[in-house]
Amino acid sequence: MKTLITNAYVLDMVGDTANIEKKEILINDNIIEIIDKEIDKNIEVDEKINAKNMLVMPGLVNTHTHLAMSIFRGYKADKKLMDWLEDAIFPVEDKLQPEDIYWNSYLSCLEMIKSGTTTCNDMYFGMNKTVEAINDTGLRAVVAWCIKDDAIKDKIEKTREFAKIYNGNKDSKIKIYVSADAPHTCNPDTIKLCVELAKELNTGLHIHLSETIDEETKIKSRYSKRSTEYLNDLNAFDVPVVLAHGIYVSDSDIEILKKIKGGISHNPISNCKLSSGICDVAKLRENGITIGLGTDGIGSTTTMDMFEEMKTAAYLQKVSTKEPSVISAYDILKMATIDGAKVLGMDDQIGTLEPGKKADMIFIKTDKIHMCPANDVCYNLVYSSNGADVESVMIDGKIIMQNRKMINLDEKQVMRQVKKIAKRLL
Ligand SMILES: [Zn+2]
Repeated sequence: MKTLITNAYVLDMVGDTANIEKKEILINDNIIEIIDKEIDKNIEVDEKINAKNMLVMPGLVNTHTHLAMSIFRGYKADKKLMDWLEDAIFPVEDKLQPEDIYWNSYLSCLEMIKSGTTTCNDMYFGMNKTVEAINDTGLRAVVAWCIKDDAIKDKIEKTREFAKIYNGNKDSKIKIYVSADAPHTCNPDTIKLCVELAKELNTGLHIHLSETIDEETKIKSRYSKRSTEYLNDLNAFDVPVVLAHGIYVSDSDIEILKKIKGGISHNPISNCKLSSGICDVAKLRENGITIGLGTDGIGSTTTMDMFEEMKTAAYLQKVSTKEPSVISAYDILKMATIDGAKVLGMDDQIGTLEPGKKADMIFIKTDKIHMCPANDVCYNLVYSSNGADVESVMIDGKIIMQNRKMINLDEKQVMRQVKKIAKRLL
């Protein structure tokens, strides 16, 4: 099936400076075939999409989520991470049923699609139901069963089973990673098992790292070393990694992190909401470490809208360095697209609009009051727009949302289900 997109202002996210031009895009099934000012009119196409007044850019990549946590939106908020987890979250998580995981994940997926995210990186438990929701909504995702020191064997088996189904299947939109929860919840044997499993499955490791100062203090008192050193000594960086947060990393940690494959997922709103701290994104980037953006789970953030994360990331760097030029709007957009794809080891498939890449793209309506005038399109995207400006979404060559309406998905039914679960459990 061939699809031709016409009249689009294309921001392809290729290279170090913004390139925005009126172009046409030819898609063959799920792959971008040609992007050019004018495509040969003799090529027969099955479908034409007129993208007049739209900016078309790569779908956003959310590098750290816990999709099934959507019922915790605003629940017992305004606490520090560990107090919040122990008082509010853990007691309810124990009662979550498989169907709850499905609907909660579904809601997060819808919220992401409706705000322009086309790929996410999820870790939690009950992942078979989360994968079902991801498949039913049409997202692309990296998925991992979160392993802590308990029930390790079961989760390792499930990871193996899932990797067998999804990894290596070139048509699959799901990729399986191994996940160890965090250095302070995984003893050395657990970390070693996870690293060995990632090697065996030829995949990567998703782990929280240095989210709070309390975690660093715990690791220091247990092992007389920093979290990054702890992971390094257990050979965790032999495999590609997604390190969520990375707030309390020292100069010596940066020397270690310079060598990793993958990168850090920066979750600015979660870090603000839980008063965890500020990741030194500018310094990490200067040292060649790839930084993607993430929302974290809805409980610890506010929405799954990556536009909110983009502006918060930019503001945090400006205020923490007291230097307004510390990071450009284009670099923030890179973090939400191609750099996020690099963090997930998927930059050969997604993150830019180029021939040969998967047709994951978003259509942003730009003729709006809050984006007028467009003196600097990238600046408008980061600082003036929000997820509701995303008019249509294409994932893997298929339009999933058109004119803000989900195709073939009943949004009201999902909300009804999640409200029921929240009423029962909260
Ligand atoms: Zn997290």
